[in-house]
Amino acid sequence: MSDIKVFKCPNCTQYINTSLTECKFCKTPLSNETKQKAIESENENTKLYRRNMSKKHLLIGIGVFTIGIVISLPGLLGGTLTNGGFIFIGLILVGLGEIGNGLFGLMERD
Ligand SMILES: [Zn+2]
Repeated sequence: MSDIKVFKCPNCTQYINTSLTECKFCKTPLSNETKQKAIESENENTKLYRRNMSKKHLLIGIGVFTIGIVISLPGLLGGTLTNGGFIFIGLILVGLGEIGNGLFGLMERD
């Protein structure tokens, strides 16, 4: 097998890999089916983790974006935007970037 993947032993939850025929920690025999299932659940966990990260990006983005808007909007509307105000426009852009990042991650399939 050239494609060795790491997964958790279904019995003792230690990290092992697909090149083994039994767990090196608890000696549980590992059939191909067992390995396949373990890898699938590992992938599922990775997906969940990435979804949570995407949500975090989204929330941070919305927060930063909102702060940028709240601080710079009066200046923008009143035409009194100073150099300092442009920093907050930067915040809006960073916020939008994070929102995009989060949305992209959430829309991603598999
Ligand atoms: Zn084990």
